[in-house]
Amino acid sequence: MTDKKPELSAAMKSKVEPKVFKKNPIIGTKFTIAISSAKGGVGKSTFATNLALALKQIGCKVGILDADIYGPSIPKMFGINEKPKSDGQKLDPVVKYDIQCMSIGFLADQQTPMIWRGPMVTSAIKTFTQKVNWKDLDFIIVDMPPGTGDTQLTFSQEIKMDGAIIVSTPQEVALLDVKRGIKMFDKLGVKILGLVDNMSFFKGDDGKKYNLFGEGGVKKTAEEFKKEFLGEIPIDPNVGKSGDNGKPIVEENPDNEISKIYLNFAKKIKSIYLLDQKQS
Ligand code: ADP
Repeated sequence: MTDKKPELSAAMKSKVEPKVFKKNPIIGTKFTIAISSAKGGVGKSTFATNLALALKQIGCKVGILDADIYGPSIPKMFGINEKPKSDGQKLDPVVKYDIQCMSIGFLADQQTPMIWRGPMVTSAIKTFTQKVNWKDLDFIIVDMPPGTGDTQLTFSQEIKMDGAIIVSTPQEVALLDVKRGIKMFDKLGVKILGLVDNMSFFKGDDGKKYNLFGEGGVKKTAEEFKKEFLGEIPIDPNVGKSGDNGKPIVEENPDNEISKIYLNFAKKIKSIYLLDQKQS
């Protein structure tokens, strides 16, 4: 046995250079916000859909771009089975609940896996950002895939991103990925609006809070990296049910406690961008 570490190949050592890229805005929207999670299964798509619907409820015009090419969730969560229309040049987003939506899941059979290499994913992202007739939107909410891969790089380097929200559950294993995600956005110059602790606790019939995945980890991570902690969203089985039924909780039941939490997130986002814009 030797202590010597194996050498990395030149390709593995190569880093993302802080090259200056021309960042194109997505035509048809004022602001583009990424919802990112670094790890899968923490509720990123649930957050993206419900935030979009909450923003709509407070009078914003919203689009949702499902950038998760390998695991699109938006068609299921919005209950959309139709294909987008095309004029031969551009695709029209599919409109549901007054939200303009685009997903690779509208174009491919839902059960067919996308067996694509990186460049094809990048090309799909370019189509969704440049060849979709997004119209008169205040916000496009981008549902990012988990991780720190090609899609994140394409968005951060080539598209004008106005902010990112990082969603996590409080377990250590998810937080490790969150730290990598924070460093990635910082390095690529995308402003992180804050961190959200999803499925942070479950309130039993006895009124007690049960921290199933640990407690306070997301807030601590936000403090460690000097980012804003945006808040907690508890576990509610109705959230999962409504997403599975194609009508997210904010649309299905705006009076639900979780819907009210989303409404507060939406008010905050609106105040950061649209109110600031009016004042300037
Ligand atoms: P991701 O996009 O990070 O992979 P999803 O949004 O698909 O995660 O969520 C994973 C699962 O967790 C889904 O079944 C979803 O309904 C459920 N879920 C997300 N947030 C909550 C919540 N606050 N309470 C209960 N279930 C939730």
